[in-house]
Amino acid sequence: MSKPTIVFATNNAHKLDEARRLAAGRINILSLKEIDCHDDIPETAPDIEGNSLIKARWVYDKYGYDCFADDTGLFVDALDGAPGVMSARFAGLDATDADNVSLLLDKLKDNDRRDAAFRTVVTLITRGNVHTFEGRVDGHIGTEREGDSGFGYDPVFIPAQTGISFALMTPEEKNTISHRGRALTKLFDFLLR
Ligand code: IMP
Repeated sequence: MSKPTIVFATNNAHKLDEARRLAAGRINILSLKEIDCHDDIPETAPDIEGNSLIKARWVYDKYGYDCFADDTGLFVDALDGAPGVMSARFAGLDATDADNVSLLLDKLKDNDRRDAAFRTVVTLITRGNVHTFEGRVDGHIGTEREGDSGFGYDPVFIPAQTGISFALMTPEEKNTISHRGRALTKLFDFLLR
C-alpha cells in the first residue's frame, strides 16, 4: 500500500510538528503553505465541531485535497466552560498566547476551583466523505506558568495524574496523553486501517 498523502489545514507549526511526530513517517502530511494556501480561513462557528468542519471543508472545496483540520478549546469549570471555542481570542482578537494565559491566571486568581479540560475535534474529508475524531484530556490550571515547550496554554495546563504542565513535557509525552494526540491517533488508525 502506498503512503497516504493528506493536508493538515493549519498554519500552526506546533500542531504540524505534533501530527508529524505521531504519524512517524507512515503518512505524508502537507501544511497549508505547502499547497500554496495562504487564506485566512474564517472560524465563525459557535463550537469547535463547527470550526473544525469549516477549516476542512474550505481546503477540500477550494483546493481539492483530501484533508483534515483540528479545532481545540480549553474548557474551565470555574468559568462555566470558558474560554471554550473562544480560546484563541480569549484576551481579544489579536491576543497572543501570553495575553490569553495572563488573562486566564488573572480570572482564576485566589480561586481553588481550577479543574479544566482540553477538547479537540478533528474533521477529515476524504473523497467527499466527512469523518470526525475527538480527543479530550482532563486536568487543572496551575497558579503560575511552568516550562517552555509547546504553545498556547501549555505552561499552565496540568493533566490529571501527571503533576506537571504540558510545557514541561517532551513532545512525545504530551502526544501520548493530550487531546490532540488522542484525536490524531484515532484519525491515523482510520487512515491506515
Ligand atoms: P485552535 O485549535 O488553534 O483554534 O486553538 C484555540 C486556542 O487553544 C489557541 O489559543 C491555542 O493556542 C490553544 N491551544 C490549542 N491547542 C493547544 C495545546 O495543545 N496546548 C495549549 N494550548 C492549545
